[in-house]
Amino acid sequence: MSKRRAICLTGLLLVLLLPVGLWSQQRSNPFTAHEREHIQVKTPGLWDKKGHHIFHMDSVSRHEWCFPLPGAKVLSPYGHRNGTTHSGVDIKTRAGDTIRAAFRGIVRLARPYGAYGNVIVVRHPGGLETIYSHNSRNLVASGDSVVAGQPIGLVGRTGRATTEHLHFEPRIDGEHFNPSLIFHLEQGVLRGECLRCTRKKSHVTVKVYP
Ligand SMILES: [Zn+2]
Repeated sequence: MSKRRAICLTGLLLVLLLPVGLWSQQRSNPFTAHEREHIQVKTPGLWDKKGHHIFHMDSVSRHEWCFPLPGAKVLSPYGHRNGTTHSGVDIKTRAGDTIRAAFRGIVRLARPYGAYGNVIVVRHPGGLETIYSHNSRNLVASGDSVVAGQPIGLVGRTGRATTEHLHFEPRIDGEHFNPSLIFHLEQGVLRGECLRCTRKKSHVTVKVYP
């Protein structure tokens, strides 16, 4: 085969295969560009007619959950702090420790994001999202499937952080809520109680149910 013909054939193959490659890339990541870029996004089809959504944490078995930073101590709880709202809990072991996915799911976002620094958002079955922030490194990318306990990042102090720690926050339909409804944070174990979320206009409340 002449050199020129070989180049032509290679070019033709590339033109034929490129759309297939792009298509499979789009197929493997279920999230839109907006969902891959932003922390606060809505979850389609979440609410029933009364504006409720239930998380069946009571039926999660031992191998289906993992405390995101095993052995960590609580530095700063969720809630009001110096006149502002702390949107998650700060927990600490040592710099460079492994951050683990709390439940199975798909990584929606993994990138640097303002005060969050290097941050990861995982969307779990049922619409719960968990956020892991200030990481020195993210070990996963948007579109990756993860299982509970899988290493997803390393503890750091990127973004607005004065010490190495993990800022962990759960969200529902883009709204953060108290992580102590999911985990007993001091013991690092799953609380395992059913949670009922209620949406009223832009406000979401999460309570142990019934
Ligand atoms: Zn924090």
